Amino acid sequence: MCLGRTHALSAGAAYAALGEFVFHQRPAVLLAGTAIACGAGVLPDMDTVGSTVARSFGAATECIAYGVRAISGGHREGTHTGVGDAVCAGLAVLAIALEGVHFRAWHHELSAGRIVLGAYLAILFGAGMMALRILHRGNGRRYLLAAAAAGAMAWTGFDAGGIAWAILLGTAVHCFGDMLTKHGVAWHLVTTVATEWNPEVLTRIIHEAMKARDFPAVVAALKVLAVTDPVQAQAVYDTIEIGLQIAADVGE
Ligand SMILES: [Zn+2]
Repeated sequence: MCLGRTHALSAGAAYAALGEFVFHQRPAVLLAGTAIACGAGVLPDMDTVGSTVARSFGAATECIAYGVRAISGGHREGTHTGVGDAVCAGLAVLAIALEGVHFRAWHHELSAGRIVLGAYLAILFGAGMMALRILHRGNGRRYLLAAAAAGAMAWTGFDAGGIAWAILLGTAVHCFGDMLTKHGVAWHLVTTVATEWNPEVLTRIIHEAMKARDFPAVVAALKVLAVTDPVQAQAVYDTIEIGLQIAADVGE
């Protein structure tokens, strides 16, 4: 549960920072996008029945979670990939594209796209509020606020161009967050990068660092080289030591 809050906060913060400083969005658009990103930040966990997003609209979202779990292959599988992120965003794009598909005999305002988009946004708003513990005491009030905001956005077409992007960003931030918190994944990544480093490149870095008299960099690169290629590291170390000896002798 605590994790849901972190996911929603980091996704919302990422959107707010991008919207404000990179895209200079209007306050209303910025607010709507941030709210969507907060919800999208917990959306990938729809593959788990007990998760925040699965509980956001009670039995309705729980049913969806059972379906998503079956299709995606379980927790932290399909929904926690780039493809999963693209599918989540693509759903909003599809709903907006279906805007013009009206149900026969029904009121002309009621299109398939609006209903799908409205329901989708309602889940995102509801899940975001639940994760951030907004109106967490009264389910009814939270449902109502989420549905009202989602309905207003779907029917007015407000920020239709930005909805999919906000979802994409939110789900991507979630996956990144999971990757870092997953046991040892971050450390594994670091050691992989270190051991994959080419000894020749490292030796070049050491030489350049020596020339620049950046000794902390020399030591750091030597440490990585000692993991990658211990023999080469020893050779470089010996060369440096001999060089220092010569320098000392010349100095005398
Ligand atoms: Zn997750």
